[in-house]
Amino acid sequence: MSLGHGRHYLAIPGPSVMPDRVLQAMHQAAPNIYEGALHEMVDGLFPDLNRVAKSSEKMAIYIANGHGTWEAALTNTLSRGDRILALATGRFVVFWSNMAERLGLDVDLVDFGKSASVDLNQVEEKLRADKDRNYKAILVTQTDTASSVRNDIASLSECIHSTGHPALLMVDCMASLACDPFEMDEWKVDLMVAGSQKGLMTPPGLGFMYFNQRVIEAREKADLVTPYWDLLPRINPEVFYEYFYGTAPTHHLFGLREALNMLLLEEGLEQVWARHAKLSQAVWAAFEAWGKGSSIRLNIRDPKQRSHSVTAASMDAPYATELRRWTEHKAGVTLGIGLGMADPSDPTYHGFFRVAHMGHVNAHMTLGMLAVIDAGLKALKIPHGEGATEAASQIISLA
Ligand SMILES: *Cc1c(COP(=O)(O)O)cnc(C)c1O
Repeated sequence: MSLGHGRHYLAIPGPSVMPDRVLQAMHQAAPNIYEGALHEMVDGLFPDLNRVAKSSEKMAIYIANGHGTWEAALTNTLSRGDRILALATGRFVVFWSNMAERLGLDVDLVDFGKSASVDLNQVEEKLRADKDRNYKAILVTQTDTASSVRNDIASLSECIHSTGHPALLMVDCMASLACDPFEMDEWKVDLMVAGSQKGLMTPPGLGFMYFNQRVIEAREKADLVTPYWDLLPRINPEVFYEYFYGTAPTHHLFGLREALNMLLLEEGLEQVWARHAKLSQAVWAAFEAWGKGSSIRLNIRDPKQRSHSVTAASMDAPYATELRRWTEHKAGVTLGIGLGMADPSDPTYHGFFRVAHMGHVNAHMTLGMLAVIDAGLKALKIPHGEGATEAASQIISLA
């Protein structure tokens, strides 16, 4: 029988669970886009979006998913033929750098594998060897959502600055903003991109690009700039519509306003980070227990390199796919597929999966998800260690 009827929980790493309050805030008649309340609301969004990233710099909002902001980052700063350094720790910088190649950029992709963070020694070597300062930008993710690795952006930035290399540091925080600590100013990040549909708990469709003065200067020389993605009108609009280079995404903005109220005004950003840290520890504890004497493994060994928003794991194929199907159809929890760890046509593909713990999630959702996985392992007779739900609840009880 199925026990899946009831409120469904989409525990995939984006889009994340949207609070009812965000959805309700969007449920209203279209506002006047020429004057009045909408303009005031938008003026207030920018400082709050900056607070989420601990930034005092400029930012632009695009009507786009994450891929759109990738294109905005590249086209606003670079020229055809420019060389860039791409630091891959999973899949997402690979996708981003494929886009860069299609734009005519010369990409030096360094791949650190699918279960480790960026090795700073290698980065330092690369930068010191680049005597002519050919690299114009360095691409990296804070969290790679495929591998669930979290890179230490503060140390990477320090490493880059210690070499005196002027390349722009561009960080993809799509999966980590408002989940893991991020400090745009403190860490001297030049450009950061994020989206609405993960930590910010709003439907997919808004992309954010944060950038400092060095980026604005690079924009002066960049020959890839296009009218729609150009950051200039968006930060110095003469008329309101230039913020969005067209009609404002009114209802997404209503939703985002409510999400920011919840994150910043009610819970508080530091507490949001602490909640994600604690919930992820509960998830890891459960996996460690399941892994005793079985094939179940967390993808990232070192807890310091693990994301607080998503966890990638594996077990003998085809157990992971069977488990995902069971949790979705029998218990109302959809888990994430394994991404980029094996080709879908390869039988080992069915041994990878991911669980999300990002955005609007709390202790009961996380414990519930873990208990459902535990029930699925038992129902499907997938070998696993015992004590997972107890280990997770122990972590939560110490919160
Ligand atoms: C989700 C995600 C993206 C892509 O976002 P889309 O909205 O799907 O374009 C990019 N980078 C990372 C790290 C992500 O998690």
